[in-house]
Amino acid sequence: MPTAVNPLDFLAIDSVLSDEERDIRDTVRAFVRDRILPGVGDWFDEGRVPRELFSELGKLGVLGMHLEGYGCAGTSATAYGLACLELEAGDSGIRSLVSVQGSLAMFAIHHWGSEEQKQEWLPRMAAGDAIGCFGLTEPDSGSDPGSMRTYARRDGDDWVLRGAKMWITNGSLADVAVVWAGTDEGIRGFLVPKGTNGFTTRDIRKKISLRASTTSELIFDEVRLPASAMLPGATSLRGPLTCLSEARFGIVWGAAGAARACLEAAIDYSTTRVQFGKPIASFQIQQQKLATMALEVNRATLLALHLGRLKDAGKLVPEQVSMGKLGNVNAALDVARSARQVLGANGITLEYPVMRHLTNLETVVTYEGTADVHALVLGGALTGIDAFR
Ligand code: FAD
Repeated sequence: MPTAVNPLDFLAIDSVLSDEERDIRDTVRAFVRDRILPGVGDWFDEGRVPRELFSELGKLGVLGMHLEGYGCAGTSATAYGLACLELEAGDSGIRSLVSVQGSLAMFAIHHWGSEEQKQEWLPRMAAGDAIGCFGLTEPDSGSDPGSMRTYARRDGDDWVLRGAKMWITNGSLADVAVVWAGTDEGIRGFLVPKGTNGFTTRDIRKKISLRASTTSELIFDEVRLPASAMLPGATSLRGPLTCLSEARFGIVWGAAGAARACLEAAIDYSTTRVQFGKPIASFQIQQQKLATMALEVNRATLLALHLGRLKDAGKLVPEQVSMGKLGNVNAALDVARSARQVLGANGITLEYPVMRHLTNLETVVTYEGTADVHALVLGGALTGIDAFR
């Protein structure tokens, strides 16, 4: 039966994008099709991400693409969001790599750094020739980053950094770590280049989520840094929290991409898998699942687009980003779980993308503020009552 709708863009959201946004989206989608999808199942299986991907993503122009100057493309927030959607339709680990590089490490330097720091790092990071990571979480300090123990003390003009960061994406690959630490003057950010005396990393093994991504511990044992290593603009916890809000915006979009990839796999599989003499898509209960998935994918994409338009108009506030992250990641998890069941036993393998997305999304719902934390942000905004503590 001919249908007037595109199953993967049921609400014709494409038609409200600009030509430039569509072009960027198509370019990233083609990169994911040609460069990510053929290998990502193996990378996930082997627990690695190829280092050369950074320079390929740099050439693609997506590293720090929404930042102005210093070799960055300066696109709209919506265009950046569309790129995140396509990258995460490939794999959440690849979108994480791009988010951490562009929205956490590069954004921190762009927003809070000195002119010298920007000149030194941003052009190389935009090209993917230098890799960045963002160290906020610690073994005993996750949802409550204000409780961090990593500390930098003054010693003459220098700083001496001591402590450890945990769960740091791109950690052991990074040429520069943006590290947040307590000081006598409050929480400050420091740029710690790879190879600095006393700075070591250790990769976290045995992950069963976000496997096509490097996650590391960063250890600082009396690391001496010059005064110029400190980010001059960030003087409190607001420094890292501003960066996190940027990165969460990308997650709002990315989650919609992971969900779309699961819907696509479920439609393909259910229309070709024959049981009881018919494609399983002929059974009403499977169609109900597909309809619910399509609804969630379209709702998530519209929510992301709305937040993108607000951000481009300079009107987006962090509580709205929290709503987007909470809603879209939970929706993507529901879609992935349903899709996995549609695929039966095949659904648990890496031959199909669904289980990979499902396990990845368990990280996405946890990092950059857990679902609980974002629910509390919404609760606080709705009631005026802070329920964090
Ligand atoms: P906890 O804060 O210990 O929370 C445990 C549980 O308690 C959660 O369910 C949480 O919702 C709940 N909880 C906590 N506080 C409250 C409260 N007040 N009210 C109700 N419930 C509460 N961090 C970085 O700094 N940089 C990175 O690059 C980075 N990459 C990551 C990559 C991966 C693969 C993973 C898994 C994590 C990464 N993280 C990174 C860390 C991530 O941001 C933290 O895991 C997250 O902030 C949650 O902290 P936690 O794991 O310590 O959980």
